[in-house]
Amino acid sequence: DVTVRQIAAGEVVERPASVVKELVENSLDADANRIDVTVESGGTDRIAVSDDGIGMSEADLRAAVREHTTSKIEDAADLDAGVTTLGFRGEALHTIGAVSRVTITSKPRDGEAGRGTELRLAGGEVESVGPAGCPEGTTVEVADLFYNTPARRKYLKTTTTEFSHVNTVVTRYALANPDVAVSLTHDGREVFATTGRGDLRSALLSVYGREVAESMIRADGESGAVAVSGYVSDPETTRSTREYMSTYVNGRYVSSPVVREAVLSAYGGQLSAERYPFAVLFVEVPPSEVDVNVHPRKMECRWSDESAVKATVETAVEEALLDHGL
Ligand code: ADP
Ligand code: MG
Repeated sequence: DVTVRQIAAGEVVERPASVVKELVENSLDADANRIDVTVESGGTDRIAVSDDGIGMSEADLRAAVREHTTSKIEDAADLDAGVTTLGFRGEALHTIGAVSRVTITSKPRDGEAGRGTELRLAGGEVESVGPAGCPEGTTVEVADLFYNTPARRKYLKTTTTEFSHVNTVVTRYALANPDVAVSLTHDGREVFATTGRGDLRSALLSVYGREVAESMIRADGESGAVAVSGYVSDPETTRSTREYMSTYVNGRYVSSPVVREAVLSAYGGQLSAERYPFAVLFVEVPPSEVDVNVHPRKMECRWSDESAVKATVETAVEEALLDHGL
């Protein structure tokens, strides 16, 4: 039922940035070494995510766009064993397809030479499938987002706002995966490109530019079951939003008020009013100590020992600042 499908799509796809998030996660799950994200008009006109990952055969492609189809879980036992891929529900491509015009071209890595496949979807229906000349890997192009759901399309904000959400999402994945070359292009202009050969510092340089990258100092700490590592900026290098404070738990981006508060309190009175530092922190805890809510629209987590996390992060940042005489 088309209507039910379109409503369900709203759960996963709120705006262009949510499409970008799902496509980039798929590329990472596909073992990509390179991911190029290209958007037009903030992603409202066109989004293309291209990777050099494992790719798909024609049969894989047909299956990929079907409802609740995932190649990432075989049975319930896999779920119990813990999911290591970013996606596993098999919803994203199907639901994105329901509210846009999607073209996927793909060729399996080390597959039969020469041949790739192109599949076109409109409003969730397969329009065509055929051979295509393309490199190994996958390109997913999403055009005219919400063309068939005018009420949703109306809720899209300005190009600038939509692009800023896209930028935030791509930045998150670029920083979490410095070993993958991630690029972002908006309306023909390259916004950033990481090398994929580097460490976190070189990814910071590509994403935030020299001035910010040079202001950032390493912060590391460990206490009991909690370990933290990453970079924070000197107290002078700040922005007026908390958006540049990012936390990853066991490699996955989360929005963590606990970690943000810990970082801010480590700066003591050194920050000007309403100014926030840059912080990119990776927290590692045993999976039993954290519950990450992987709902597509929320990225929250509950810690079993919140105060241990807070103390470890705060101490690590305090010591980093002290070491630099800050
Ligand atoms: P999920 O990621 O939850 O499995 P999706 O709807 O996002 O569900 O994707 C469905 C399937 O399509 C994936 O399980 C995967 O097999 C395939 N797929 C999607 N994107 C890619 C890609 N970039 N490279 C290779 N396979 C992909
Ligand atoms: Mg997915």
